[in-house]
Amino acid sequence: MTTYHAPIRDFQFLLQEVFKVQDTLYTLPGFEEIDDDVVNMVLEEGAKVCEEVLHPVNASGDQQGCSFDDGMVTTPDGFKEAYQIFTEAGWSSLSLPTEHGGQGLPETLNFVIEEMTWSANAAFILCSVLTRGVVNLLQAFASDELKQLYLEKLVAGTWTGTMCLTESHAGTDLGLVRTKAVAQSDGSFALSGTKIFITGGDHDLTENIIHLVLARLPDAPEGVRGISLFLVPKFRLDSNGSPGQENGVSCGSIEHKMGIHGSSTCVINFDAARGFLVGELNRGLPQMFKLMNLARLSIGLQGLGIGEVAYQNAAAYARDRLQTRSLTGVKNPDGYADPIIVHADVRRMLLTTRAYVEGSRAMSLWTGIQLDIAHAHPDEGDREVANDLIELITPVFKAFFTDMGYETATLCQQVFGGHGYIQETGMEQFVRDARIAQIYEGTNGIQALDLVRRKLFIYEGRLPELLFKRMDQFIAGHPAGDRGNEFAAPLAEALTTLRALTQWLMAVAKENPDELGAASVDYLRVFALTTLAWFWAQMGYVAKEGEDNSFNTAKLVTARFYFARLLPQIEGLDRGIRSGAQLLMELDESQF
Ligand SMILES: Cc1cc2nc3c(=O)[nH]c(=O)nc-3n(C[C@H](O)[C@H](O)[C@H](O)COP(=O)(O)OP(=O)(O)OC[C@H]3O[C@@H](n4cnc5c(N)ncnc54)[C@H](O)[C@@H]3O)c2cc1C
Repeated sequence: MTTYHAPIRDFQFLLQEVFKVQDTLYTLPGFEEIDDDVVNMVLEEGAKVCEEVLHPVNASGDQQGCSFDDGMVTTPDGFKEAYQIFTEAGWSSLSLPTEHGGQGLPETLNFVIEEMTWSANAAFILCSVLTRGVVNLLQAFASDELKQLYLEKLVAGTWTGTMCLTESHAGTDLGLVRTKAVAQSDGSFALSGTKIFITGGDHDLTENIIHLVLARLPDAPEGVRGISLFLVPKFRLDSNGSPGQENGVSCGSIEHKMGIHGSSTCVINFDAARGFLVGELNRGLPQMFKLMNLARLSIGLQGLGIGEVAYQNAAAYARDRLQTRSLTGVKNPDGYADPIIVHADVRRMLLTTRAYVEGSRAMSLWTGIQLDIAHAHPDEGDREVANDLIELITPVFKAFFTDMGYETATLCQQVFGGHGYIQETGMEQFVRDARIAQIYEGTNGIQALDLVRRKLFIYEGRLPELLFKRMDQFIAGHPAGDRGNEFAAPLAEALTTLRALTQWLMAVAKENPDELGAASVDYLRVFALTTLAWFWAQMGYVAKEGEDNSFNTAKLVTARFYFARLLPQIEGLDRGIRSGAQLLMELDESQF
């Protein structure tokens, strides 16, 4: 079975040596008491709970799955106990607001812990991740009364939250939502309708479940402008604020699905359920996007976390598995064959995974730091820039990390040969668990459209240039002949390609909007690969100038591998994108 060891050294390298959180994070208002000791303690204790509590019930949770009987969902053995340990120790409320019982630690640290939890047990962590999003949304938009009744229990993990958007005919296009909300004389609403695919819609981990539901009033305008957001508890609260009578919310069934078997995916029926308006009428969708943006970052971390754990197990297997001799002569004369790690192609698979995972981890922590700056920096201008960068990077983070998570899980499964295809080694679970992340929270195709349709054009196109200028500054700081421009020079070339492609796309899209859709997914990949090159360049230089030890050598070689073998993909993608939309649109529907 699989093992997991949190990559603590890599987190420390990124936080302390590459991003210098001593200057960028600890100095922010509210974080004055945080120092390297606090961070190291969080890393070590978080690692322990992930390695010793969550990962041991990962495979068993997958095999047993959730069950549905008599309208009730039961989670796999061990999940309830793990949930109690996890929430009581405060891991689910690490960066949540102190005024409602959270610990108010930086989002950057929460990203670290979230990555670990996705590695340790993806199905388990889904409930907590969505609850965090629900808390953020209620904090931003709910009335004081709702906040007082619900936030403390949600922050503590005593109750969990869900996001009820999807209906059978309304997935990507949420403007089609039909669930009805009828105003009642006491100011509440009666909600009726059926939501599908609701993660954690029902379970036995907590005594109440708080649903955030998109619905429309009978006289609401058509489409997205007529959708409102409601808080609907599974059980109504009694006069003490405790779960009391049933509220017309029931689970109709759970889905049988490819992966994340330990997470329930529910049909949830609302039958005149009592709900409360959150925020403004008909503003439900933009409000929900506040939650969805954070949730999208979390789902990106699912890809990263699974890539990491798959890598660890594949690297261990490759050192152990003896098969055939090396092309350059016997390497293991005492064994009946050489370990497969001597073979260049096995190393290609491992290094590809490592380069994507470690590069993405750098981008993840950088994004976490931007979130903390956006939230806490005293200067309004700095907060605005950080917000802009987050807005730009969110679809790239979600789509690239989750594509990379699935691709690398598959590569690591390949390292196991046939043994990766059977259940016993646990590798096929990583592949299955990674796959959904490319689909939910907005498919990766929709993320790519968000990047090319919105993020490139809004605010007169200033968002991409904001990021590109950061890269320019970095490149300018590493001229040839100084500390060598080993990484800065190829980064500059990639950035030139990305800039030119961006300008080309913005120009052709004015003539034909289909060009955006035709380019979107490949363009996002070019964007991500170039941004990752920026992070690999930063890590490469720190490793090159650091002590001569095994960690730094491995980092440097992986940086070189990234620039030599992975970044050049952008050249082919660039050519393909420029072939345009015409070929894609040429066939008649009947010819497909
Ligand atoms: C396990 C699981 C858990 C989930 N959890 C939740 C949850 O907790 N809450 C919730 O509300 N939902 C949840 N979902 C639903 C999920 O978010 C949707 O399935 C997803 O957003 C896609 O919607 P859809 O399945 O209807 O696909 P569709 O919208 O029908 O899309 C089908 C395909 O068409 C593409 N497409 C659609 N429109 C466009 C366009 N304009 N341009 C280009 N391509 C387009 C899509 O990218 C996709 O490839 C979950 C789903 C699953 C499977």
